[in-house]
Amino acid sequence: MTQSASASLKNPSFVLQSKDHVSIEDRPVPELKNPYDVLIKPRWTGICGSDVHYWVEGRIGSFVVEKPMVLGHESAGIVSQVGSAVKTLKVGDRVAMEPGIPCRRCVRCKEGRYNLCPDMAFAATPPYDGTLARYYVLPEDLCVKLPENMSLEEGALIEPTAVGVHITRAAGVKPGDSVVVFGAGPVGLLCCTVAKAYGASKIVTVDINEDRIKFALSYAATHAFRSARVSAEENAKNLIRDCELGPGADIIIDASGAEPCIQTAIHALRTGGTYIQGGMGKPDINFPIMTMCAKELNVKGSFRYGPDDYKTAVELVATGRISVKELITGKVKFDEAENAFKDVKAAKGIKILIEGPEE
Ligand SMILES: [Zn+2]
Ligand SMILES: [Zn+2]
Repeated sequence: MTQSASASLKNPSFVLQSKDHVSIEDRPVPELKNPYDVLIKPRWTGICGSDVHYWVEGRIGSFVVEKPMVLGHESAGIVSQVGSAVKTLKVGDRVAMEPGIPCRRCVRCKEGRYNLCPDMAFAATPPYDGTLARYYVLPEDLCVKLPENMSLEEGALIEPTAVGVHITRAAGVKPGDSVVVFGAGPVGLLCCTVAKAYGASKIVTVDINEDRIKFALSYAATHAFRSARVSAEENAKNLIRDCELGPGADIIIDASGAEPCIQTAIHALRTGGTYIQGGMGKPDINFPIMTMCAKELNVKGSFRYGPDDYKTAVELVATGRISVKELITGKVKFDEAENAFKDVKAAKGIKILIEGPEE
């Protein structure tokens, strides 16, 4: 067997050098910053739309790649060293890695909404390096141990699952609710399956891509709706009629970020219904604010994940209440990571995983 190019390096890392230019580079092995840290070898990493966005555009909003940055933040790995104060993990443990370190001191952190911490150090968000490397350091409490019956590949899917858990929690999905999810990409699909686990009785997937709709129906959605090129009011009317949503949907989650979807969602909600913005798209859009007001809708944003979302995601998978294996549509070796980015950019498959570097 021939050894891969990165096998001889100390800490091979997949680095975005500048917009459109990635390469594998040897970086120093990171050191534990305090006694509560653990050193992890990420074994599988999923590619996220945001990684691809940085690669293609060099920025997301006000986050600009100004110096080379390691990509990747959806990882699971094996603990290879533990700090002296670490109690719950030992070398060899397999963990899902929550990739954002909050300051733990600010008001938002102290009130338990650490995902809103202004000093968050989040993997692969400039200037912080990501997880696509042989080694990565995290505090113990941001690692969730994977039970025996869960694979490291499933562990890599916990990051987007935690996003779905956070959104579904913000929506307050309860048994019997009707839930419409715009966008059948990974996060939209995960919102469908988590909503189902939380007891939603009707789960409508909305997309324009026939393959994605087919998959969503086989995965977790009970109904599907294809948006048409008509007004948002018209789309909403058709959605309610076709999916028998009565007075309108109880909850609508947008995982698309697309302006027509957001407008349709507001028109398709029942009075007093709940709207959650999960998808990111154009920063400013036309929003049916009169309808929102007259229907007294709850309109909320959702950003990443907070306390217990990772743990809940692991438990949902471990207990079989949701399944994430189906979402893995491709796997590539570390040295071929760039190909995986090209596939995600071309919207091939659902979730592509990159294997950790060979040794
Ligand atoms: Zn992500
Ligand atoms: Zn903070």
